[in-house]
Amino acid sequence: MIRVGVSGAAGRVGSAVCEAVENADDLELTGRADPQLGVALADVLADCDVVVDFTTPDAALDNALACVRAGVHAVIGTTGWDPSPLREESGANVFVAPNFAIGAVLMMRFAVEASKYMAKAEIIELHHDGKLDAPSGTAARTAQLMDGEVPIHSVRLPGLVAHQEVILGDVGQTLTIRHDSTDRTSFVPGVLLAVRRVQDLPESPLIGLEHLL
Ligand code: NAP
Repeated sequence: MIRVGVSGAAGRVGSAVCEAVENADDLELTGRADPQLGVALADVLADCDVVVDFTTPDAALDNALACVRAGVHAVIGTTGWDPSPLREESGANVFVAPNFAIGAVLMMRFAVEASKYMAKAEIIELHHDGKLDAPSGTAARTAQLMDGEVPIHSVRLPGLVAHQEVILGDVGQTLTIRHDSTDRTSFVPGVLLAVRRVQDLPESPLIGLEHLL
């Protein structure tokens, strides 16, 4: 049994992760941390082997440091923060993914491949209006991996979940690669895969779900 704590447990993604952990035979939900539940991460760390964090850009680094210093592995889905200070830490492993949906990982891979052959590209990322960071972590990561300068346009509207279009243009043609998460359960299989694998990472922090597929 892997003992799993969820940080941001009352949030949109965190609550979906809690439900999935409770339904998995090999995982035990041993802590729900969230200001909305009146429970701090520090209160649950002693009961956890792994913590999953879906919180806010301001909280993610401190949460990851608290986990590692307590010897607890961390799987972080929170976007809009810089994980580089974690390179100095060695107490436990940290896995970070800007997008845990398999379709989004494939969208990024196909966009990177296409960018080698087409002249220019731009990204339009579209999210619900409660999202705190812009551009999205997925769009920033996609642009970083693609050839050339890739401008990003951010749309925030009610009714959206998480969507991204990569539009590539060349003489007389365009190619559009689009991914849509229509429900937050799209992130769950990737999160559970990372929970099961985080203790065996070749390096830490390791960034990107593609490394676990
Ligand atoms: P959300 O609904 O706002 O949930 C975040 C929760 O974290 C809130 O309940 C918040 O409480 C709580 N929180 C804030 N600071 C905390 C702390 N220090 N310790 C514990 N809990 C804390 O947000 P969401 O839509 O679930 O998204 C969460 C993050 O995941 C965002 O950064 C988003 O971009 C990212 N995300 C990533 C993926 C992926 O696949 N990697 C997918 C979707 C979303 P308060 O409301 O009281 O602040």
